Amino acid sequence: MKILPPFVNEPMTDFSDPKNRAAQEAAIAAVLKTRGTEYPLVIGGKRIKARETFASTNPSRPSEVLGYFQKADAKLAEKAMEAASAAFETWKFFSAKERAIFLMRVASIMRRKKFHINAWMVLEIGKNWAEADGDTAEAIDFCEFYAREMLRLAEHQELVTLPGQALELKYIPLGVGVVIPPWNFPCAILTGMTCAAAVTGNTVVLKPASDTPGIAWAVFECLEEAGLPPGVVNFLSGPGSIAGETLVKHPKTRFISFTGSKEVGLRIFENAAKTAPGQIWLKRTVLEMGGKDFMIIDDEADLDIAVPAVYAAAWGFQGQKCSACSRLILHHKIHDEFLSRFIPMVKKMAIGDPAKAGTYLGPVANKSSFESILNYIEKGKAEGGKLLAGGKKWGKEGYFIEPTVFSECKANHSIVREEIFGPVLAVVKARNFEDSIRLANDTEFGLTGALITRNRAKILEGKKKLHCGNLYINRKCTGALVGVHPFGGFNMSGTDSKAGGRDYLLLFTQGKSISEAY
Ligand code: NDP
Repeated sequence: MKILPPFVNEPMTDFSDPKNRAAQEAAIAAVLKTRGTEYPLVIGGKRIKARETFASTNPSRPSEVLGYFQKADAKLAEKAMEAASAAFETWKFFSAKERAIFLMRVASIMRRKKFHINAWMVLEIGKNWAEADGDTAEAIDFCEFYAREMLRLAEHQELVTLPGQALELKYIPLGVGVVIPPWNFPCAILTGMTCAAAVTGNTVVLKPASDTPGIAWAVFECLEEAGLPPGVVNFLSGPGSIAGETLVKHPKTRFISFTGSKEVGLRIFENAAKTAPGQIWLKRTVLEMGGKDFMIIDDEADLDIAVPAVYAAAWGFQGQKCSACSRLILHHKIHDEFLSRFIPMVKKMAIGDPAKAGTYLGPVANKSSFESILNYIEKGKAEGGKLLAGGKKWGKEGYFIEPTVFSECKANHSIVREEIFGPVLAVVKARNFEDSIRLANDTEFGLTGALITRNRAKILEGKKKLHCGNLYINRKCTGALVGVHPFGGFNMSGTDSKAGGRDYLLLFTQGKSISEAY
């Protein structure tokens, strides 16, 4: 008998409703009123200060400090690890049902605080309202989905029977996990990784991304309000290179759940592989890394579908989604027509402070992203790309960059090969359908991709040959829904896990086979 109703995805907020608009505006104003607040670390349920703090700022107005967060050092990371280890001794014996209900409670608190969490995302990382709302909805989905998944995993597992023995297979937790999320889905990914680890009976040291500690704090408050026992999730803000690195190398770390860049993911993979003195296990790593995602627009594509789909996939959250379309592969026969419809739309885009309703494109995350993206734009020009739109910074203040499109790109250009993580789209012309597939697969990554065509035979061919973790046909390559599109990539996009899928929680457990003779 099921104790919960079936899972359904959280609906998006309708911001055309004046009530919702007013609520979102009020929540943004309320967060702005708390500017300059200092937030603690939380270790073993205790609020703790570090020797130093760091400021979290608004990328639309970089001089605006939203809050000060503790800069945990190696000693505090050690302390958090001790607290998580101690809490594991009791949390691991909580029943699956109790842990699942805990997640359901987190989901309903987040639903109630949705406008507040959205407001933090608008101000701290520059998401427009719809993007922020989608991020919060996804976090709620993760809680609801993993709660039900835990109940399923705790059911009796079918085994081949043997006369004379009572048989069981139980999925037990691993131990203390280090959760290291990125800034780009600062609510959803952080919540998903943390809750998957906790609902399976592990305890967690959560080290949020340094660009989004305020959003992490808003989520942590929901965990606390739900009544999470002290030490089950420890909040440890601080630099990845110190706090993160110490946690990854710690002998008591049993697993690392990371989402972020390829470079940091590879470093964690290497550090985790070295056994520290006193370590009695091999650390498990769940690493979700970068992407260089494609959309193929075939000569038999419906451009009424293709144009808006590419627009949304390339520019949503300023192209800073791991699933964003950054390589557009256009069949030569529709190349010019597609661009003649697409470019005017790009040039009309509403750019500005996402705190204002109706803004589409906000700032990029931080100064170093801003500089790196502008640098890629210069490389795109130098390598011979033809600049069709954008190409420079926008406005007087803030990390705004115009949506930028280069055509005439070649497969060996760095803007076609490397993850830029910003509003830059490289267009490559394909000779025919086979050439489109070859270009799409010509990458070290393998996260998302899309094929737009009316031709059934090509769809079947694409399904067989396009090598990416999330393949979409006749739609955009972003916007995966929990439970509907289990998410995660191949090759240098990570360790092939599928967040929001039925096999995800297994990554945080180990199977214990028990047989009792009677
Ligand atoms: P980073 O790799 O820069 O940072 C990710 C996290 O790692 C941050 O919390 C960071 O802390 C921490 N970190 C940095 N150095 C270390 C270290 N030496 N040891 C341990 N932890 C460390 O990624 P971004 O935050 O810039 O996120 C964007 C990236 O994430 C893109 O490449 C994107 O494609 C990828 N991504 C992948 C997804 C997927 O599902 N495959 C989904 C979403 C994003 P600090 O902030 O303090 O430096």
